[in-house]
Amino acid sequence: MRALTLIGDRKLELRDAPPAPPPAAGEVQVRVKAVALNHLDLWGFRGMAFAKRQLPLVVGVEASGEIAAVGQGTDFKAGQPVVMYGGLTCGVCKACREGRDNLCENIGGIMGFHVDGFARDLVNMPARLVVPVPEGVSLRDASCAPIAFATVEHMLFDNAKLQPGETVLVQAGGSGIGTVAIKMAKAIGCTVITTVGDDAKAEKAKALGADHVINYKTERFETLTRKLTNKKGVDVVFEHVGGEGFNGSLLVLKRGGRLVTCGSTAGPTVQFNLMQLFQQQYKIFGSFGATLANIRTSLAKMAEGLTPVIDLEVPLAEFERGLARIESRQVFGKVVVLF
Ligand SMILES: [Zn+2]
Repeated sequence: MRALTLIGDRKLELRDAPPAPPPAAGEVQVRVKAVALNHLDLWGFRGMAFAKRQLPLVVGVEASGEIAAVGQGTDFKAGQPVVMYGGLTCGVCKACREGRDNLCENIGGIMGFHVDGFARDLVNMPARLVVPVPEGVSLRDASCAPIAFATVEHMLFDNAKLQPGETVLVQAGGSGIGTVAIKMAKAIGCTVITTVGDDAKAEKAKALGADHVINYKTERFETLTRKLTNKKGVDVVFEHVGGEGFNGSLLVLKRGGRLVTCGSTAGPTVQFNLMQLFQQQYKIFGSFGATLANIRTSLAKMAEGLTPVIDLEVPLAEFERGLARIESRQVFGKVVVLF
């Protein structure tokens, strides 16, 4: 079987791997059909000094597929469409028992990043980390559920507790998760302001339903956001960029506003004014990944028509072209690798 393997920083090789063994009790074997790309893939591909991992490593952190074989004691059926949870949680710690899978106390690594991932023809998974795909959702779209959709679901609803009618600023609205955030916030009747890096993306973000789109390269998003909200500011900021824009993200919050972040693609270290934080009673939420429940909710939303924006589809052999598309920041929506 094929396995796309990272053998060094920025060095991928499509290898012929030995076939996966039959699934053990409590496991299922999944024939992978689509891998969706994320910034996490890019971090892994470039090589990260702080990530504990050993190369060679099969890449791919987010995927869908079909059940190829079932082990004893599982409820899945051959041919059933599924997605996989890529965090190797223990299933028994307090966090796991309470459904906070992303905060597992004994996590064995993230597949495709710390340990072998999904960019291979067959993968054996613990059945408890496999989620059925509802009828009417394509495997291409479903591949965007475990990370892109579920992460946004966790950020906006579990952490920031976004309510219908609120105003939200979505930073980098053209990114994979940015496009999802725009659609999810609009779906519950929020006013959405979003930032993008060029005018072509601005058109696309408008078409997605964003009420106001700011090209942050030509306009100051802080000034414009305050103007658009009659100087009140927004209820929630959806952050995943960090770097120099982070302070602006805090500044555009209304008093008591919430900022939720899951990323730092423009830089992990920021400085901000502590007095501003407590005087305005801002709330800052870190948000890491998602829970299995977030994945189920995401798939249910897809079944109701809230589908991902697909920027580019590539075959497995062109995985690297997909990564380059994300790295170039030309992307609008998700890049999906089809098997
Ligand atoms: Zn656990």
